[in-house]
Amino acid sequence: MTTELSPDAPAPVGPLERARGEYEDLAARGLSLDLTRGKPAPEQLDLSEDLLSLPGGRHTAADGTDVRNYGGLQGLPELREIFADLLQVPAAQLLALGNSSLELMHDCIVHALLGEVPGATSRWVDQERVAFLCPVPGYDRHFGLCERFGIDMIPVPMTAEGPDMDEVERLAAEDPAVKGIWCVPKYSNPDGVSYSDETVARLARMETAAPDFRIFWDNAYAVHHLTDEPVEIADILGACAEAGHPDRAFVFGSTSKITAAGAGVAFFGSSPANVTWLLAKNAKRSIGPDKINQLRHVMFLRDADGVRAHMERQRALLQPKFEAVARILDAELGGTGLATWTAPKGGYFVTLTVPDGCAKEVVKRAAEAGIVLTPAGATHPYGDDPRDAVIRVAPSYPGLAELEQAIHGLTVCVRLVGLEQQAA
Ligand code: PLP
Repeated sequence: MTTELSPDAPAPVGPLERARGEYEDLAARGLSLDLTRGKPAPEQLDLSEDLLSLPGGRHTAADGTDVRNYGGLQGLPELREIFADLLQVPAAQLLALGNSSLELMHDCIVHALLGEVPGATSRWVDQERVAFLCPVPGYDRHFGLCERFGIDMIPVPMTAEGPDMDEVERLAAEDPAVKGIWCVPKYSNPDGVSYSDETVARLARMETAAPDFRIFWDNAYAVHHLTDEPVEIADILGACAEAGHPDRAFVFGSTSKITAAGAGVAFFGSSPANVTWLLAKNAKRSIGPDKINQLRHVMFLRDADGVRAHMERQRALLQPKFEAVARILDAELGGTGLATWTAPKGGYFVTLTVPDGCAKEVVKRAAEAGIVLTPAGATHPYGDDPRDAVIRVAPSYPGLAELEQAIHGLTVCVRLVGLEQQAA
């Protein structure tokens, strides 16, 4: 028996019409939600509130140094001891410096441009062309630094084990203008990938046409786990030394997302030759780091286990947010074929991949409905994602209820734009 529709019955609502209706409802709610940058939420910052009353009248470091005075270019030894294991850098080769690791990356580029890095035959600024390999998707501020200094960016696709090493090896070996590579080796920004041991070994031993090639090893999320199975990565400095390229890696890290973002301590670690090189440059640029802030970090964090315990408290706040994102994406987009997304084991981001040609439109529609996302394309050099498919989601800052609203709204936009594209 067939069921015939009566001529007066409303036409059945198709998926596109339903998506349009949902979007209209969303837009009518007048939301104002922000998922743009990976900032710690106020409750995460509250975990380090005690820092504000430290060092509480104390002003001497373990070796008797008066932290109120000039000097101490390497940073407080006891703070370098705490972070040595966590960043996989011997304390003697680790510097505790200012309040931002991005600033250190900036300075290293400037010093390499204007002065020779160990192993260089000339300053980078005297070369006709300087290029960096840029695993994509990647961190927009790395790309911003290259743009700022006229360094060409060569995108290299990320795999589940890190950058596509066949491509990296080929490009580094064939072109002496390729002077470096950006790496976020653990819980990478934005796709959450951690480099496999094989990737680390290949980066360390590969042949490079440039004698002064540098790996910018931005270990920003070294202790930022989201599961109870912390990922461990191989030791890049050890691997480089073993492979006969001891000066290849610059290691960066900071407490920005451990204690206070913008008021923490940043670290630089490398070979003895590179550390001596940076110290010499810093001696001209600075009268020494803020040792009072460093002392307060030592008193607050105490030791490496203190850092780990503190990060467990951070995780207790962050994990439910990442779980909520996964749950909503799964419920709303699972099985639709309109998106895939990452399930990071640490770090600060979820990468949402939508059908080619849809990312910008999704971000635009979301903004029009009051949900602000990182601009589509920001994960790629020059802001240009050739597939226009990657959207970076930063779940840390909003409260859980707001986050749920925002992610739910985002899925409405993904469905609308994806189905519109299919219908076009
Ligand atoms: N590196 C990566 C990969 C980041 O995601 C961030 C912040 O989002 C930073 C560096 C910034 O670090 P800092 O605050 O130490 O400058």
